[in-house]
Amino acid sequence: MRKRKYEKQLKIALSVQFCCAKATTNKLRKYELVVVGASVAAEALTTELGEMDFEGKVLVVERDPRMPYERPPLSKKYLTSNGEIDITVDWELDIELVIANATKIDCNKKQLEFETVAENKTDTVAFDKLVIATGATPFHLPLEPEGVLSLRTIDDSELIRTSAQATGSVGIIGAGAIGVELATSLREIGVKVTLFDKAAAPLERLLAGHLGDTVTTWLQDLGVTCEFNADLVEISRTSDQWVISLGDGRALSFGTLVSAVGARPTVQWLNSSNLLTDGQLVCDGLGRVITPMGLIDFVYAAGDVVTRKSDSGDYFRTESWTAAAEQGKHLAEFISGTEISENEEPYFWTDVAGRKVQVLGRLHPDAKLEKITEDPERKATLFKATASDGTVGWIGINSPQGIAKLRMGLQD
Ligand SMILES: Cc1cc2nc3c(=O)[nH]c(=O)nc-3n(C[C@H](O)[C@H](O)[C@H](O)COP(=O)(O)OP(=O)(O)OC[C@H]3O[C@@H](n4cnc5c(N)ncnc54)[C@H](O)[C@@H]3O)c2cc1C
Repeated sequence: MRKRKYEKQLKIALSVQFCCAKATTNKLRKYELVVVGASVAAEALTTELGEMDFEGKVLVVERDPRMPYERPPLSKKYLTSNGEIDITVDWELDIELVIANATKIDCNKKQLEFETVAENKTDTVAFDKLVIATGATPFHLPLEPEGVLSLRTIDDSELIRTSAQATGSVGIIGAGAIGVELATSLREIGVKVTLFDKAAAPLERLLAGHLGDTVTTWLQDLGVTCEFNADLVEISRTSDQWVISLGDGRALSFGTLVSAVGARPTVQWLNSSNLLTDGQLVCDGLGRVITPMGLIDFVYAAGDVVTRKSDSGDYFRTESWTAAAEQGKHLAEFISGTEISENEEPYFWTDVAGRKVQVLGRLHPDAKLEKITEDPERKATLFKATASDGTVGWIGINSPQGIAKLRMGLQD
């Protein structure tokens, strides 16, 4: 694939024109590779294919007209800087992008159907290989009424900022990475924040229960009101306030309410395609889709949308920028017949109350934490977490160099 500067607007215009032209000529276009979703996994996949001089015609179908951009800053710098940092991804590849909502895959005919966003026109293309990289979509708790905000896209981030600034107070449900980052950023721009979670501490899943009191103290020092072990009984709306009623009888009010309870794979559009197993898009270690009827060797998936099956039969997913990029890269290696590079250690980072928290490897709840390095001036600590079965994970607080060395395998 020849590299050249990726000109998004031009490509979109060309693609839309092409779609219109097709509607009148009715000629089915064929691509060697069609990718649905234009984010981390898709970018890593197509970049790697480009480096391997993949020569086939590639079409990327993406429904968000503002893509491609980076998601991690949406809860961090993009929010605090009033949207003044550039988060566009410079996708330097010779691919065609169409802004459209993919609606159906026909595996027998090897065809993808989509509806263009601007014109609402249905179009169909044929493919040799198809990659599903449609990521994840926030979900809401059953007790959340319509109108509670959530964060996944650039539009969501802008809406949360505008609403928070207008109302001055925000309730956030869910103290995982996104909830905690939002709490941090909204405090930075002077908004009153209350953070709710049924867990006893923030980042419970990410840190496997470790450092809960420490992270709570950071948030409280920043002025975040922490409501952990919270029993949310009811959420209601008055003319200008959201009211959360708790099991202990209190009722707390906010001008803006954001749900950050998690995201689920974006697979509903695949319901009619016979690709799902128990509602999940299940893949093998290479990213090939496994259906209840068996493995499909021309439909693949990568990133947050993928569910894998463990040896014990449990389904598991990874939601992280690094995992999505790695899966996209591995898929490119597989598709182009190149040797597949080794799996990297799981890695995730988040920004909490002015600190960078990085997690490398797998953390177990029963792990013992040992301080490897500490620098109080920089509020930096590197912890080694050794589990009873010998598994080692790492938690870095403001320790990017220590974690980088570990990722490069230079430190035990
Ligand atoms: C606010 C926020 C902060 C984050 N911070 C961090 C962080 O600090 N560290 C970290 O490791 N990870 C972070 N993440 C997670 C990380 O961004 C995701 O793991 C990563 O974006 C997953 O990439 P992906 O390519 O699998 O899918 P996504 O980024 O979800 O992209 C999927 C794309 O598919 C498109 N799509 C979906 N359905 C269709 C369809 N039917 N037709 C056409 N297009 C479709 C969507 O519009 C979307 O653009 C954060 C995520 C968010 C939302």
